[in-house]
Amino acid sequence: MKVVLQNLTKKFPNRNKKEAGEVIAVNDFTFEIPDGKLIGLLGPSGCGKSTTLNLISGLQKPTSGKIFFGEDDVTGLPPEHRGIGLVFQNYALYPHLTVRQNIIFPLQNLKGKNKLTKEQMDEKALEIAKLVQIDGLMDRKPSELSGGQQQRVAIARALVKMPRVLLLDEPLSNLDARLRLQTREEIRRIQRETGITTVFVTHDQEEAMSISDMIVVMKDGIIQQIGAPQEVYDNPVNLFVAKFLGTPPISVFEGCVRAGKLYIGDDCIMDVAGIDDQDVYIGIRPEGFILDGDGPLCCDLKGVEVMGRDITIVSTHDGCMSDEIRSIISSDYKVSVNTDQVRFSLKPHKVHIFSKTTEMRLSGN
Ligand code: ADP
Ligand code: MG
Repeated sequence: MKVVLQNLTKKFPNRNKKEAGEVIAVNDFTFEIPDGKLIGLLGPSGCGKSTTLNLISGLQKPTSGKIFFGEDDVTGLPPEHRGIGLVFQNYALYPHLTVRQNIIFPLQNLKGKNKLTKEQMDEKALEIAKLVQIDGLMDRKPSELSGGQQQRVAIARALVKMPRVLLLDEPLSNLDARLRLQTREEIRRIQRETGITTVFVTHDQEEAMSISDMIVVMKDGIIQQIGAPQEVYDNPVNLFVAKFLGTPPISVFEGCVRAGKLYIGDDCIMDVAGIDDQDVYIGIRPEGFILDGDGPLCCDLKGVEVMGRDITIVSTHDGCMSDEIRSIISSDYKVSVNTDQVRFSLKPHKVHIFSKTTEMRLSGN
């Protein structure tokens, strides 16, 4: 089921009574979620992710704009008539019901020709429980399950009616690191197997990048960029997106363009044809640094962390806006730690240049 948001806007009265005006939680969102895809809504806390999801689910009403499921305008429909499955960060299971009863719950109020017999409900519950791999736990109560298992039950309950759209709001945030990784791969598998159009909300860029067909990067209720994860990582439209994606983060320097050359301080670090003379921010991805004794970028060496496959070189530079620069180098290189300085040359496609005034990316030719 394709989902279309059309000029979707949600305003709230300002909670802080001292400040006048209103909060625009979702500001004029227009985009299409293709049928059968998993899209990640990504951005820092407060950027409007949950509000967007609540608008799609119908739990909240938009101030203006429309939502379509396929060709149907569902903007005025209550949640129970939209055919959605919802999963939240806190699993919200019924504590007094078993796993089976929790999964069956949404099936019990089906009416008329959709009404199911007890046997049919049990059969459906088992089928879904197998899909999320909790079919061995059907008679337990939620308190007898781990966090990861509880979240699987919540996912099973959201799937049992075969929703048209599955909506997940930070579903992994309460799980420990290993379970988070495992469960996100599970969600990906289940989504692929069922082919249900899915919206996955997270503030964790790594999570969004790894699980999504497409990510929507948001800030302060405004969409910054939409695209395939790799495409957004490789071609960030502005400084915010460049900084939000990637671990270790991109290193940002103050610099300038003069006559087709890019400078940090007095050092020319690269040629850049096609960008007018101006002050700029220069973002360099950690994998964009090449150890090079004759390289143009000279940094103060602080340490070397050996990670097995890679080495992380930690250094500083007066022109760098963050406390440290983390560059990732293949461990085939031998890095001497007996020096105070380290020199790099740069991979041009890993260096992004942004206007200092608008923070939008400037592309050369
Ligand atoms: P996220 O899920 O990305 O953390 P939210 O969608 O929850 O962000 O919130 C977006 C903005 O809208 C925030 O500034 C938040 O304070 C505000 N907001 C959310 N819900 C309400 C509400 N019911 N009343 C007033 N303001 C709200
Ligand atoms: Mg939220």
